[in-house]
Amino acid sequence: MSAHRVAVVGCGTAGAAAALLLARAGHDVTVFERVAAPGPVGAGITLQPTGQAVLARLGLLGPIAADGARIDRLICRTARRKVVVDLPYRAVDPDLHGIGLHRGLLFETLFAAVGAEPGVTLRCGVGVAAMPRDGATRTLVTDDGARLGPYDLIVVADGSVSELHDDTTIRTRVRPYPWGALWFVAEDRDRVFDGELVQWVEGARRMCGFLPTGRAPRGAAPVVSLFWSLRADRLDAWRAAGLAPWKREVLRYEPRAGFVLDQIRDPAQVLFARYRDVTMRGWHEPGAVFIGDAAHATSPQLGQGANLALWDAMVLADCVAGHAAVDAALAAYTAARRRHLGYYQFATRALTPFFQGDSRLRGWLRDLLFPTSRWLRPLRRRMVRTMIGVDRGVVRRPIPLAELRGLLAAPRG
Ligand SMILES: Cc1cc2nc3c(=O)[nH]c(=O)nc-3n(C[C@H](O)[C@H](O)[C@H](O)COP(=O)(O)OP(=O)(O)OC[C@H]3O[C@@H](n4cnc5c(N)ncnc54)[C@H](O)[C@@H]3O)c2cc1C
Repeated sequence: MSAHRVAVVGCGTAGAAAALLLARAGHDVTVFERVAAPGPVGAGITLQPTGQAVLARLGLLGPIAADGARIDRLICRTARRKVVVDLPYRAVDPDLHGIGLHRGLLFETLFAAVGAEPGVTLRCGVGVAAMPRDGATRTLVTDDGARLGPYDLIVVADGSVSELHDDTTIRTRVRPYPWGALWFVAEDRDRVFDGELVQWVEGARRMCGFLPTGRAPRGAAPVVSLFWSLRADRLDAWRAAGLAPWKREVLRYEPRAGFVLDQIRDPAQVLFARYRDVTMRGWHEPGAVFIGDAAHATSPQLGQGANLALWDAMVLADCVAGHAAVDAALAAYTAARRRHLGYYQFATRALTPFFQGDSRLRGWLRDLLFPTSRWLRPLRRRMVRTMIGVDRGVVRRPIPLAELRGLLAAPRG
């Protein structure tokens, strides 16, 4: 196999994982990250067994698992305490579980590994604005107009707001979601929230949840992430109303949340996250490939974004290893990812309006239909499998659990 000159744009989840895997396969990798001194930001995410498997292959699952919180099930109830879904991982495999993790910890772990990897040159504070073709190779144009390269392969991993969407011939659609979520990470020294991701819903307009999140970056105490669904155009009204009425509402759903709410003294402590929906007709063109949120961002309803980004990186590295020519590898990558990504984009788009929207009918239908999954075992298994991250379509075979187990059995680093 000949070594390729690879440029990775963005050092988030997808870019960092791709850089590590490609460098370890012997390629000459340079990572460009726009932020000069990137730090750990964000709130909790759920690392599913798929994401864990890729981190295991990277030798990074050990430190991640040590600082994360084990999640054995997702449980969602209505304000009247009716269970809407109860999804234990053991319904599919007693050895699998999720990991509640601070997004910043995932970032710090990957970023440190990239910095320490001998085959990777990391250039922070360099934003990429374009990737023009130059015969069989490509160059990069930075924000300040410098031209870098040539490169045999550009891996575009610059997130859902990718500027390189404007510099591709791939048909791309980017739409902001009208809804987002408020997030707050609170200390939970007594581990009041432990072992499960708890969600509360009331109609489709109200959703609130508590995700045990392990340890915060540079913190020692266990933390829990509170999230509260909110339409973006209602954010100002939420701020103007002050914290008291909102805290009363949160407590009505989750009476254990008093200590979380006591840690919020100013609305400015609460982050508001907005989401985008990115659809691309294929993810490659000559000499360039889009991965992670840049390729397929969705709402976080199914909690798969970081997991899909990690899986993308692994499949890309395997496709590059399996083909001598870059473009053949990229065509194989798009073909290999189509079903998995297509299913999660479809399922997220189909489900999100039942949990974030103004339709009374959808909320009512959800509360009527979703609880059947508690008694219909095949439906419940399907929902748990989707949560684990392995489904590839309604009738297609999922990623084999044996493949996951094999990866998870690797030394954890
Ligand atoms: C509130 C919230 C909750 C979430 N919950 C979950 C969850 O439970 N489970 C889950 O799996 N996922 C979750 N996600 C999604 C997950 O965080 C993302 O899907 C994942 O981080 C995507 O990784 P990425 O590498 O593609 O993009 P990013 O992590 O966004 O990284 C992109 C990087 O590119 C850099 N960059 C941008 N533009 C340029 C440029 N032009 N040049 C150079 N560098 C550039 C950025 O600075 C950044 O470092 C959540 C997201 C949000 C916002």
